[in-house]
Amino acid sequence: MWDVIGQAKAISLLQRSLDTGSLSHAYLLVGPAHVGKMTLALNLAQALNCEATDRPCGQCTSCRRIAAAKHADIQVIDLSNGSGDSAESEGRVKISVEQIEQIQHSASLPPFEGRCKVFILDGAEFLSIGAANRLLKTLEEPEGNILFVLLTVNESLLPATIVSRCQRVELAPLSTAEVEAALISRWKVDPEKARLLSRLANGCLGWAVSAACDDELLRQRTEVLDALLDITGSGYEQRFEYVVQLAGRFSQNRRSVQETLDLWLDWWRDLLLVKVECSDAIINIDRSGQLAEKAGDYTLAQIRDFIDNIRAAGEQLRLNANPQLALEVLMLSIPEKGMGKIPRPI
Ligand SMILES: [Zn+2]
Repeated sequence: MWDVIGQAKAISLLQRSLDTGSLSHAYLLVGPAHVGKMTLALNLAQALNCEATDRPCGQCTSCRRIAAAKHADIQVIDLSNGSGDSAESEGRVKISVEQIEQIQHSASLPPFEGRCKVFILDGAEFLSIGAANRLLKTLEEPEGNILFVLLTVNESLLPATIVSRCQRVELAPLSTAEVEAALISRWKVDPEKARLLSRLANGCLGWAVSAACDDELLRQRTEVLDALLDITGSGYEQRFEYVVQLAGRFSQNRRSVQETLDLWLDWWRDLLLVKVECSDAIINIDRSGQLAEKAGDYTLAQIRDFIDNIRAAGEQLRLNANPQLALEVLMLSIPEKGMGKIPRPI
């Protein structure tokens, strides 16, 4: 009854550890956003507290209470539920010392309604230095009926001391076919919509399911993509205005800026595919006509270089570089249109 789709390797590792009673006291689930990390963590919490023989059953009171986020022994800690002075002063961009202290207090008490307390840290890369040090102390002195599950999209931002005390489990992106099949069979999504969403999802089923249930996500994607295409053909003034907007958003919501860059990356990768006559593999299948038209504007080298530049900007943002600077450099490197149409010299 594991709910996670397409993560056979991770599930079999956890199931084997459950069956043999050799679970680690702390896991680090690594994988892109919306790939199933939280679903797997909650499934593990269910398995540890399930009342049935085949765990997790998904049906017993305990499993249902965990799925409904009502179980007293399962706590999810992330950026949104932070409080206290240090969270305020850091603009809530870190998991605070206070949040970890609260976990430590809770961990010192016996389970309230289940067998095992499970603490899930979503976005573990956002632990403040102080919070990571506090957490380290707890991880160094494991107790029997407590499990920590840390979720991260980027383990390189976590202190090595934390990583070394957790068992690492990697969740790989799903194939387009797996996402498409799951959308149709499990979520009853219309096949044509499932075809588009499975490509846009980049292997992250959670995003595809959200977009299938909420048209707003696809509308936002259209809006962002149109803005990006507009910027591509605009002058420096407009580009830098857009940078100010994006950089401002970055301090509020890092993920949304990363998602904007991902959209742009997908678009330029599609241009590359069209250019080398592999249009079958493109992601933005609803815009194939526009892609075919734009691909003619650039040379292959221009497209490749700009893809590298988008990747570099994304990496710099992940490494906490100055967002305005990183985005300005990217805007300056937008290739000049029309080069693809110039005949090659003989
Ligand atoms: Zn159960």
